[in-house]
Amino acid sequence: MRIAKNSVVAFHYRVATADGEKVDESAGEPLTYLHGKSQIVPGLEEAMIGKQAGDKIRAEVSPEKAYGAHDNDLDLRVPLDAFPADARDKLEPGFQFMADHPSQEGAQVQYTVHKREGDEILISGNHPLAGQALIFDVEVVTVRAATADELSHGHAHGPGGHHH
Ligand code: ZN
Repeated sequence: MRIAKNSVVAFHYRVATADGEKVDESAGEPLTYLHGKSQIVPGLEEAMIGKQAGDKIRAEVSPEKAYGAHDNDLDLRVPLDAFPADARDKLEPGFQFMADHPSQEGAQVQYTVHKREGDEILISGNHPLAGQALIFDVEVVTVRAATADELSHGHAHGPGGHHH
């Protein structure tokens, strides 16, 4: 069976940046997803179409089809006193919080604290992999049709999927 809309696919993967730096990989269990629901990055989902169990593929995915282009408007320098006094101690590098998008009305962004500099902090609403081309090495393990339950829930069930 070949991967198409509404296939449930289990696959092993290793993903690296264009420089060859490892980003992530499936550890032990394969990752399972429901094809056609944007559960994996768009460029990888496109590369999976038509593949079948046992296929090994290498997908080179542009930033736009991975985690998006880097948006300089989301890299911000903010005075510490813009935050409530009791929150300031938490604003260490790596801390994440949701806040308004700087220019899109009503949109929320997840920001990560990068650095404290005196009375200011540098934060970024860019995904850590924004602006990066990614190379996925994938081995398709199983492909099956989604069940009616999975289609109504919009995700895969069973090993590597949702349990409930
Ligand atoms: Zn479910």
